[in-house]
Amino acid sequence: MKTINLVIPVFNEAQAIDKHLPAIVDVLITQPNITWHILIVDDGSTDTTVAKLHSLRESYPQLSVLCLNRNFGKEAAIYAGLQQSRTADAVIVMDSDLQHPPALIPEMVRLWTQGLQVIEGYKTERGKESWSSRWLAKSFYFIFSLLSDLDLKNHCDFKLLDKTVVTAYCELPERNRFFRGMVQWMGFSTAQLPFNVPPRQHGETTWSHLKLLKYSFTAIMAFSSTLLQIVTFLGVLTFCVGLLISCIALYKKFMGSAIGGFTTVILLIFFMSSILMIALGLIGIYVANIYDEVKRRPNYFINWQKSTIKEKIDE
Ligand code: UDP
Ligand code: MG
Repeated sequence: MKTINLVIPVFNEAQAIDKHLPAIVDVLITQPNITWHILIVDDGSTDTTVAKLHSLRESYPQLSVLCLNRNFGKEAAIYAGLQQSRTADAVIVMDSDLQHPPALIPEMVRLWTQGLQVIEGYKTERGKESWSSRWLAKSFYFIFSLLSDLDLKNHCDFKLLDKTVVTAYCELPERNRFFRGMVQWMGFSTAQLPFNVPPRQHGETTWSHLKLLKYSFTAIMAFSSTLLQIVTFLGVLTFCVGLLISCIALYKKFMGSAIGGFTTVILLIFFMSSILMIALGLIGIYVANIYDEVKRRPNYFINWQKSTIKEKIDE
C-alpha cells in the first residue's frame, strides 16, 4: 500500500471548509491500494476555522491539523505541510475552496503510479476574476517568463509530488519560496492535467492586489537577476546620452552660442533622477531579499497546542 498525503493550506475558510472537505474525501475513498491522509495547515486564521477543523476530525479520522502561529502566507503554509509529509510516498497540494477540482486526483495518482514524479494541474480557463486580477496575473507571467528561464503561465499550486520531489523541495535552503517556480526549476519528470477553474463556492479570495504584487516581486527576484543587468544597461545608456549632450553643450559654448537650456536641464535632471531612483529601488529589493536569506529565520512557527500533530518531522 502506498501512502499519499493531501496538504491543504487554509486561511479564514470557516464559512465552507466543512462543505469542501467531504467533496475531497469522496474522491479519495474511491482510490484503491492507497492509504491517504489529509493534512490541513491553518495559516493563522482569525475566524473559527481551527475549531471547525477540530470538530471535523470526529467524522474524518484521517484528518490532521497543523496550525501556524500567525498568518505567514500560503507559501509558508505549503512548505510547513510538505515538511511534515516527508514520510508519505507522495503529496498532493491543493486549495481548500474546490477551485482545484478533486476529480483530477484519480488521474494524478494513476500517472504517478506509472512513474511520473510531478503531476500538475494546468488552468485552461482562469475562471471568474476581476479584469484587474486577470491583467495583473497576465503581466506577471509575461515579465516572469521574460526574466527567468521558466514558463509558469496558467500554472497553479495544485500538484502531486513524488516523495523524491518533496525531499528535494524541502532541502532547498532559501527563505523566499515560490512553490510552482521551484518545482519547475528542479526539473523532475512532469505531466500536466488541464482543468477549468470553477468559481469559488463560498467566501472571497484572501489575495488583495497589494499582496499579489508583493508576491510577484518576491517570485521575480527569487528567480532572476536580469533586472539588475537591465539597470546597469540603462546606466550605460543614460551615460552615453549624457556624454553626447555634454559634447553638444561644450561645442556650443566654445562657438559662443551657449544655450539658455533651462528645459533641457530640467528634463535631464528628471530623467536621470528617476532612472537612479528605480535602479536604487531594485538594488534595494535584492539587498532586502539577501538580508532575509542571511538572517536564516524559519519560514513559519507551529502552534503545537492547537495542532493535532505533536512533533516536528526532523530535517
Ligand atoms: N491561503 C493561505 N494563506 C493565505 C491566503 C490563502 O493558506 O495567506 C489559502 C486559502 O485558504 C486557500 C488557498 O490558500 O485554501 C488559496 O487561496 P484563495 O482561494 O484565496 O486564492 P486564489 O484562489 O484567489 O488564488
Ligand atoms: Mg481560490
